[in-house]
This record gives sequence, C-alpha cells and structure tokens, in this order.
Amino acid sequence: MRDPRYDILFEPVRLGPLTAKNRFYQVPHCNGGGYRDPSAVAEMRRVKSEGGWGVIFTEQVEIHHTSEITPFIELRLWEEKDMPSFVKMADAIHEHGALAGVELAYPGVNGPNLYSREVPMAPMNMPILTFTSDPVQARAMDRQDIRNLRDWHRQSFRRAKRAGFDILCLYGAHGFGVIQHFLSPRINQRNDEYGGSLKNRARLLAELVSDARDVAGDTCAIAVRLSLDEMAGPDGFTNAELRELVAMHSELPDIWDFAHGTWEACSGTSRFKEEAAQEDLIRGLKQLTPRPVVGVGRFTSADQMVRQVKQGLLDFIGAARPSIADPFLPKKIDAGRSEDIRECIGCNICVTGDMTMGLSRCTQNSSFMEEWRKGWHPERMRKTAPEKKVLVVGSGPAGLSAAHRLGLRGYEVALAEARREVGGRVTLESALPGLSAWARVRDYRMGQIGKMTNVEVYRESQLSPEDVLAFGAQHVCVATGSLWRRDAVARFHLKPVPMAEGVRVLTPDDIMAGVTIAGHVLIYDDDHYYMGGVMAEALLRMGCTVTLATPSVKVSEWATNTLEQGFIQKRLLESGVDIRVSRALMSAARGEAVIGCTYTGREERVACDAVMMVTARVPVDGLLHDLRHLEAAWADHGIESVKAIGDAEAPSSAIAWSTYAGHRYAEELDEPERGDELPFRREIAEILT
Ligand code: ADP
Ligand code: SF4
Repeated sequence: MRDPRYDILFEPVRLGPLTAKNRFYQVPHCNGGGYRDPSAVAEMRRVKSEGGWGVIFTEQVEIHHTSEITPFIELRLWEEKDMPSFVKMADAIHEHGALAGVELAYPGVNGPNLYSREVPMAPMNMPILTFTSDPVQARAMDRQDIRNLRDWHRQSFRRAKRAGFDILCLYGAHGFGVIQHFLSPRINQRNDEYGGSLKNRARLLAELVSDARDVAGDTCAIAVRLSLDEMAGPDGFTNAELRELVAMHSELPDIWDFAHGTWEACSGTSRFKEEAAQEDLIRGLKQLTPRPVVGVGRFTSADQMVRQVKQGLLDFIGAARPSIADPFLPKKIDAGRSEDIRECIGCNICVTGDMTMGLSRCTQNSSFMEEWRKGWHPERMRKTAPEKKVLVVGSGPAGLSAAHRLGLRGYEVALAEARREVGGRVTLESALPGLSAWARVRDYRMGQIGKMTNVEVYRESQLSPEDVLAFGAQHVCVATGSLWRRDAVARFHLKPVPMAEGVRVLTPDDIMAGVTIAGHVLIYDDDHYYMGGVMAEALLRMGCTVTLATPSVKVSEWATNTLEQGFIQKRLLESGVDIRVSRALMSAARGEAVIGCTYTGREERVACDAVMMVTARVPVDGLLHDLRHLEAAWADHGIESVKAIGDAEAPSSAIAWSTYAGHRYAEELDEPERGDELPFRREIAEILT
C-alpha cells in the first residue's frame, strides 16, 4: 500500500483543457532510435505508460526539413509520410492512461542541415552552433521567413493533434530550439520588432503559442520548454530575464517546463551534480504564474519529490533519466515499493547512444530500447525457466545482473564470489572520488536477489575448475571480470612499452586495493573514459603531484559523449594537474618517463616517481579456459554449457556493457540456436518505386 506521505504525488493536475492523472511527467529525452527505429521508441514509451507516468513525451521532433540535426537521430514530422510512427507512439502512450506530449523543434542555428542541404536560418547570420563545429553558417531570417516559420509550426501542430497528441510543446531550451535563439540577446542582435527588448525577443514565442492555441482549440494543452539560464553569462538569456519573461507572459502557455541552458548543465552526471541541482534557478518561478510548472533534477527519491511540490517549487516532477532507469518508478511508489526502485546512477551512458548515433542503453535498465527489438521488459522476463540450476561465478555487474534475471525466470541460481564484498568493480569503483552512485548497480540487484528464494549468494568462495565441476549446475556463467594492464598496451601501443628495472608501475586496481603512494605520478591515459581523470583526483587526495599524458587531444575524450568532458578537464586544470595532450608514453626508467608527441614523435622527459597505467584491461578468464580444457568431463557432471560474460569475455570501461551481458545471458539461456537469424527485430526504410 502507498505511504500516505506520497499521496500528493498522485494528485491529478489540470493542464489547460486536460488533466494529468498524477505529477509524474516524463520530459522529452533522446534515445538514439528516433526516426530510424519508430516501433522501438513507441514500445519504450508504452512500457513507461504501463509504469504509471502521468505524462509521457517524445524526444525532440524536427518540424520541417529546412532545419535538421543530422547526424543525430531524433524524430521528424516533415510530411504526411511521417504520421504513422507518431500515431503509433501516441497510441502506445495512451495505453495505460498517460497524456501524450510532443516536443516540436525548429533547431535553427543548431541545425547544420547536412542531410537536407537547405541553407539554415537563424535570428542573424552566424556560424552553426553544434558539437561538431560544422563548416556551415545560417542566414538571417527576414519577415517572410518568420511568416513561413509560423506556417510550418501550424502545420506541425495540426499533424501532432491528428496523430493523437495531447500536449504540444514548443522547444526553447538547451540551445537546441529557435525560440531560445530569439530570446537570447547574444544570438538575436536584430534591430526589428523581433530583436532588442525582451518583449521583442519574446514576440516569436508569443506568436507561436497563439498559433498553437488556434490549432489546438480546447483539445490539446500548450507547453513551453525554456532554459533556466542560457549559461552564456550576462550576454545570454539569463535566469533574471527568464523571470521577467514569465511575469510578463504568466498565462501564455498551459504549462511551463523549465530545463537548464545547455544540455551539459541540464543533464549533469552524479560525478558533478547532486539530485535537485537546479533548485536555486527554479525557486520562485512558480509564484510568477498561475500555470503549472515542470522541472527536472534527476529525481529518484520520493521524499525529495514531495518536498519539491510541498515547498511550491514544482507542480510536476519532470524526469528523463530516472524514467529510463526505472520506467515503473511511479507504480513502485504508488504500491509502497520504493525499495524496489532501480535508481538512476547519473552516468549518462544513455546520452552516449544519442551522441554516437547508436541506440541508447542504460546501465541500470538493460531492457531500455530493447523492449521492441528483443521483447525485453524492465520488470519481467519473456520465458520461465526449465528446472535447472545455474552457477554464476563472480558478482560484478555482469554476474549480479545475470543472477537477478535468471532468478526472475525461475532458475535455481548460485552466485559465487571470491571476495567478502559482492559487487565486483562497482563496489571498488564506488569508493573512488565522485563515483559513489555506482554502488546503486549493486544495491538494486542485491535488494531484489535478497527477496528471491531461488537465488543463493556464496561470499568468500573463490571457485576452482574442480569446484565448478563438482557443483552440480547444468549451466555455468563465468563473470570473473578483468584487470587493468600494466604494460601501456591499449590503442596507441599494441605492444608493451619498454620499462627499465625498478620502475614503479601502478594501475587503478592497485589504488582500489588500497595501495598508497607519494611524490609525482605520471598517469598515462589511453582509455579515454572516466578512469584517467578519476585516478588523477584520487592521487591528488593522497597528496601526490600529478601529470596526465594522453594520446588524445583532450582529457577523457570519450566523456564528451556523457557530457562530462568539459567538467573533467576544468576540474583537473583547477586542481593543478599538469595535462599533456597528444602525448604517448614511450618508455620509463627509475625516476623518469619519456613521452612522445603523437604527431611529430618529438620526445620529452617527465621526472616522476611512478607511472599509473589507465590503458586496456585483460579478462580474468583462467577459470573459463581451465573449464574448456575439462570439456570432456562436463557431461559426467551434468554440465550443459559454460559461457563467459561481461568483462571476462571482453572488458569494457563502461559498466553498462556488463549489466547488459548479464541480462542477455539470462534472457537467452536454454533458447534454441538462432542460426543466421538476427538476434533482434529491425525496421528498414520502405523502397519507393
Ligand atoms: P564484470 O564487470 O564483468 O561484472 P567485475 O570485475 O566487476 O566484472 O566482477 C568480477 C567478480 O568476479 C569480482 O568480484 C571477482 O572477485 C570475482 N571472481 C573472479 N574470479 C572468481 C572465482 N574464480 N570465483 C569466484 N569469484 C571470482
Ligand atoms: Fe541513469 Fe545511467 Fe541509466 Fe542514464 S544510463 S538513465 S544516467 S543509470
């Protein structure tokens, strides 16, 4: 039963002509699927509807082909042909009583038009502002262009309404929508009635909302999604100006949806931002308008949500990542099952799916974007298990995920862990600076396993091949993890680097095992995700002086995809780390290392007391190979299969690969071989004749 403290979260809220059944509002979020995978995005949203969300939104929807953000994959509502996928999504969202919202965007200066090849348009003539600094400039819109822009919007309102959407949202946040570009005194330096004063800069917004109302009548609600602060200093659209705008147009939309100014600032990782980090920017906005207010803050705690509502900060609890990590979050709170919530860890692996044009995945919820492709579900398994016993060796994210999901299927599961502590790398890494939220990967799964009578956990149980044979399981899942390499082999060097006798070489495993060091340490980072920067922070805390060398042109380069790179480099620079980019480790001797420029080969010496390798990893697969050598004896011991998963099969710097591998193992165990058939469903474009 629901805890009465949380009743307030389940109150219906009126928005314009409609009523949302509760305060859980899934704000728009990318997923890397978009127009390429329409059924996958519809099914992902259907599952959220099943999970109890009151409002569920699409991702960004491009309304017209004259403004698009190729290579990124969002949705497109350019012509009638696009309608079926929108109808399918609205129907899926409605299935369990949620309101369907659509986020309509004209990217303007954020759209390089690499696909449509149209000349982009913006408030003024200026270079396109994208992650990739495309060699494209936008032309300034004239009055006819603005009239066209309004027509295109009207057309998109009509289509969205016909597709069945309830909330039409105008996107002007994160620097991604033309409304924000017009509001910004930095991007909009026009001299006409659309530039200059705030009233003029807000004219386009007011006109578009009025156009939306004309189309929507009393069937749809109109939302406006704006940046809390453009994050461009006093030259930009500031939080103070936003407050003026809301006061000036307090009754303009039916809902105010506030996001942060840049995507990086809005979707900060847990390493850099706490839950509810935008509170100061939101406080007081609600008091300027009679309309309901939505805001985000990576909310996973029901108490925090209640506080936001009770203190008059928000009417709706906006959530993107918490809804990805646990699509059933509202239902679990409603059912008094808060302890079952799979809390977002704030890693932004989901964002990387969009940034890399792959399909998004979630560290915590491995079924995310596999709902349609593979029929996976965040709470259920597709098939029940035959009466068999599975031995999972290793309790890292891969082993824990496999054990939990195998347990859900109904297998009899034994999970053996060599150490006293379960959790493998997530337990070890969660003790490092900024990574405490990683422990949620372990805690959620251990919480679930703890309730299952068919899953047994054996701690301090280092298993030998003989132990495994004698165990009496039909299936053996080897999830024994990996170790960081010590020889500098990764991407730049594929062969070990010469090391003189007596050089002190460390890896992140040593630091996580409690090794301490003093003096000057050279970190060699050819991994490029979070660990290099995290090791620098750990060494600084020990009092070391740190030089970080990397063959990349920036620190933690892949963390651009998690929106963290800028924060990492800033933190290291401000902490006094000596950063050497475009440099590879060439050799090391006692007291010094030689690093070389990756362009010219020019070498330089760095005096140091130790070298820390953040490079590749080696699978811990001795047990796997020993078991394979003993294959002739498997049948006598009743063993049908032995399979390595996660880092023991092929290490990844990201935990999400391991949780996914565990889930997949459990879904596919005892399934017939698929031969050449793809292991997932796929949609392909229609061929026009
Ligand atoms: P992954 O990311 O693939 O889950 P981890 O490195 O996080 O990998 O976890 C691997 C776990 O396996 C570690 O906790 C380690 O102690 C455990 N382990 C390794 N070898 C054995 C073994 N022979 N018996 C039991 N546990 C093992
Ligand atoms: Fe949260 Fe990470 Fe999942 Fe994204 S990938 S929803 S940040 S746990």
